[in-house]
Amino acid sequence: MQKTIYNTYKNPKYSTDHPHNQECIYCGNALTFNYIDSTFNISFEELKLDFRSYVRNMQSVHGLDDEYFALRQNSFEKENAYLGQCMICGWWKISQLYYTDSDWQLWQNFYECCGVIKNLDVADLSTPMSVLRSYLVARYEERWSIHPYKFEQLIADVFRDFGYSAVCTAYSRDAGIDVFLIKDKNIIGVQVKRYRNKIKIEQIRAFLGALLVNNINQGIFISTGEYQAGCHSLSKRFGIELVNGKDFYQRLKEAQLIQSNIDFSPKRIINSRLYYTGSCHMNSL
Ligand SMILES: [Zn+2]
Repeated sequence: MQKTIYNTYKNPKYSTDHPHNQECIYCGNALTFNYIDSTFNISFEELKLDFRSYVRNMQSVHGLDDEYFALRQNSFEKENAYLGQCMICGWWKISQLYYTDSDWQLWQNFYECCGVIKNLDVADLSTPMSVLRSYLVARYEERWSIHPYKFEQLIADVFRDFGYSAVCTAYSRDAGIDVFLIKDKNIIGVQVKRYRNKIKIEQIRAFLGALLVNNINQGIFISTGEYQAGCHSLSKRFGIELVNGKDFYQRLKEAQLIQSNIDFSPKRIINSRLYYTGSCHMNSL
């Protein structure tokens, strides 16, 4: 449910996250959690104040008595803060849990903050590749806006993570091959189409011709979209691998994990302030 909120907002200035969520809100990857030294102190009085908004909501829905929500100070207990990180796109959240109880109920109260992905001009050729890759994982629909040459470089970069040597050809005179991959003395020609339309069978034929001219017998055709009927059988016959937009997204995510160079600066935590995000009852209401 929480995810749909983020899909609505391109770049929410402030965002909160469901306390029990353990997935990246941008790419869906399971977060990696680590406890961190807590420097966030919420007083019992502060919690009580924040808890009021929650109580109002609960009473309007369930009509419960005030005593149900009367928090007891002697039960006020803090758990270490933990950091959840997405090792694929770099999104993070910090969460700290406070326990309290009242008559008949044990409460978990969450204070949190989380990262928000900045808008990035993906058409800008000077954007560092690592930044572009992380951004693209989180906002894969932006693939259509990346400069075609930059996209070829990105594909070369992703294949390097899988152990290939990769060379992009000159953009203006590529003669049908955009990237040369070399692994174990094998040369593979790659055609890259940053394309919304379905790839036509003629385009596969043209690629076959380009491979022939370059004396290469292995090829990979990568499209950001889909392929027309007939492309797959032709490709199979000539040993060409077809990669569609969905397949490439999967590879990009895997490559991010191989590279695993997510830069999380502790400074970002120091400058963070935790906000009350809600409470959860632990007994059944
Ligand atoms: Zn992510």
